[in-house]
Amino acid sequence: MDCKTASELLPLYFDGELDRVSSRELEAHLDGCADCRDVLVGLDTLRTRLRDEASRHAAPELLRARIRKDLAARAATAATPTATFRMPRARWLALAASWVIMFAAGSVFVPAWNQAGAAGDARDQVARDVFAGHWRALAANSPYDVVSTDQHTVKPWFEGKIAVAPAVQDFAAQGFALAGGRIDYVGSARVPVLVYRHGHHVIDVFVLSQNDAPPQGKRIESQGYVMETVMLGSQPAAIVSDMGDVELARFVQLLGSAR
Ligand SMILES: [Zn+2]
Repeated sequence: MDCKTASELLPLYFDGELDRVSSRELEAHLDGCADCRDVLVGLDTLRTRLRDEASRHAAPELLRARIRKDLAARAATAATPTATFRMPRARWLALAASWVIMFAAGSVFVPAWNQAGAAGDARDQVARDVFAGHWRALAANSPYDVVSTDQHTVKPWFEGKIAVAPAVQDFAAQGFALAGGRIDYVGSARVPVLVYRHGHHVIDVFVLSQNDAPPQGKRIESQGYVMETVMLGSQPAAIVSDMGDVELARFVQLLGSAR
């Protein structure tokens, strides 16, 4: 990939709208191109400043009153008054919500990427890929490619897509429900990711090869998210989520005891 293509893809990547394959190609370019990394950091700085420093203004009471009066007048004359106003508002709220998620995912992404890039260690690279994959999935429409709460559906879905399908177990009874799975990338390897939900937390379990795995029990924190390693049957795995320590420890224990 050249810098021209990279510069065209960077805004999409930053907004979490770039597909995984293109994201990997762009990340490979970013690894070797300080200029394009600077552009990415610039985007993040701009976003942070807009969020933290841009001034906000409440509408003057006079304007509010006029809008209220106008809405009331329209509602009185329209045949289906509520429908007229509900639709745009609902759509606006959906849009606003998607922006909030983008901001949250994007603002934590770049600083962590820089830290890992500076360290340049192979294990940091794994952690970087795991965090990046998690945040990219959170920013996407859906964090999984197969949606299922049934372990007997998720495991076969992986078979044929990757060399070794992971052990898949549901822990809904213990409060950690299997939600689905996807294929993600760690380094150049395609790896299975099991997705669980605990309350409003999304938990990714990246099932790694023996070579890629960080030491067991390793814990890395980045911007409020935690990655911790565990053995899933005979395969090393990295858990990443924004759960609290107690909940995470409980989930690590559950996964560690999985067959
Ligand atoms: Zn470049």
